[in-house]
Amino acid sequence: MNCDWCGIGLKQDESWQLLQPSRNLGASFCRLEHVVPWLMKKDDWHIRDQVEVPESAGPDCAETGVELDGSAIYLVRDRRGMEVADGFASKDAVLAWAKAGGRWASN
Ligand SMILES: [Zn+2]
Repeated sequence: MNCDWCGIGLKQDESWQLLQPSRNLGASFCRLEHVVPWLMKKDDWHIRDQVEVPESAGPDCAETGVELDGSAIYLVRDRRGMEVADGFASKDAVLAWAKAGGRWASN
């Protein structure tokens, strides 16, 4: 698997996955910063088998706080077998969140 923005090879246990379970779509990234330009300039998702809502995702949008519905987008951080997922109501919400540095943003 390669980063969909820069093309670098991804280790199996070290990646970011952007998922749209309702449409069985996904994309992979080497780092959070590469989600932003990809969403703005490419936005070319891959069809995958059985994209499921990540178990570790909460019920609300991580950026806006609205309750997620079936069309939600999930961003999953895979790190050494640990999976941390955040859900989003829209691509704009993913963009705003990623631009701000995501879950580990430092002010
Ligand atoms: Zn990359």
